[in-house]
Amino acid sequence: MCPFIPSAIFIDKTVRDLPLTRRVINHFPAIPVTEIENPDILKEPFPATSAKKQLLITRFKGEPVKPCQGMGDYVCCNYMTVSFGTNCHFECTYCILQDYLKNNPAMTLYANVDEILASIERRLVQNPGRQFRIGTGELADSLALDDITRLTGDLVPFAARQDNLILELKTKSGCVDNLIGLNHRKKTVISWSLNPQKFIDDEEYKTASLDERLTAARKVASAGYPVALHFDPLLALKNWSDEYVRLVQQVREVLRPTEIAWISIGSLRFTPGLGKIIRERFPKSRLLTGELFPTEDGKVRYFREIREELYSHVKNLVDSAFAGVPNYLCMETKRVWGEVYKNIPETKGALEAHLAQQFAC
Ligand code: SF4
Repeated sequence: MCPFIPSAIFIDKTVRDLPLTRRVINHFPAIPVTEIENPDILKEPFPATSAKKQLLITRFKGEPVKPCQGMGDYVCCNYMTVSFGTNCHFECTYCILQDYLKNNPAMTLYANVDEILASIERRLVQNPGRQFRIGTGELADSLALDDITRLTGDLVPFAARQDNLILELKTKSGCVDNLIGLNHRKKTVISWSLNPQKFIDDEEYKTASLDERLTAARKVASAGYPVALHFDPLLALKNWSDEYVRLVQQVREVLRPTEIAWISIGSLRFTPGLGKIIRERFPKSRLLTGELFPTEDGKVRYFREIREELYSHVKNLVDSAFAGVPNYLCMETKRVWGEVYKNIPETKGALEAHLAQQFAC
């Protein structure tokens, strides 16, 4: 895994004395720091590679807890997201953030952690009958910068204090050292997005290797954290069928079914604008040689039959290696669910209830 070393740090004056800001500055004593009045001056479409070297520490404004993008005809699991930062120093060729954040691509951290947590807590208190699953990995990798921010030291104890929250920290890193020894009460799930090492080498630059991810997963499982697995995005690249057989075997050699909270399965999907970005930034990528088409939700995906083949293959592997662990398709239509699972969760909450059963108090 490639460490993050910014070339410049910009600090919104309103957060200069907050603990996260101080920790980051102390971590990089030799990097020039500039205090700014208006963080919006960095909201410009810089080239992505240089933007990922600029670090902005600012304040999150607005409502932090949002529903994830499962909408329309998707079978939705009622997942919620919250962001403590945006963008990621890893370089997955397919990363949708390259397009989403093209007008605001600087690496950004939100230092008003206490305000964000207070806002989450209000939401939990207002809905005592609902079990929330909230993840921090939508607009950034949840753990890739944790060695620098030590944010998990705030998040994990916060989740441990809540009765109706499962917090998910999703990563392609091996940064778990700060998690060990925290009082988690099994309320924080640590999850990994997984692909075969060959696909990591070719399409997930700068991320942790498969071995590093599995070693980290073993560490947190041994520390009692529930682990989740995301076979997502499945990539229909050369020898994909054999590659995923080997991948599931490798994971099963390291983790027992009883240590896994849930498993999601999803396939490559991206905005139409990302195709151009991939061609420009990653000309050697093989991704765009696949049978990819625009679909009704406005994203580009593999042809439906290919997606169903990928899902059925990996679902069978997962069902046999991790019997009894809930698994589900991420951002897929009822039609594809019906083909792969033979039953479609009836209501928006049914899948959520199924997934939350592991954590029933
Ligand atoms: S790890 Fe996730 S957020 Fe980071 S570059 Fe890869 S896909 Fe994007």
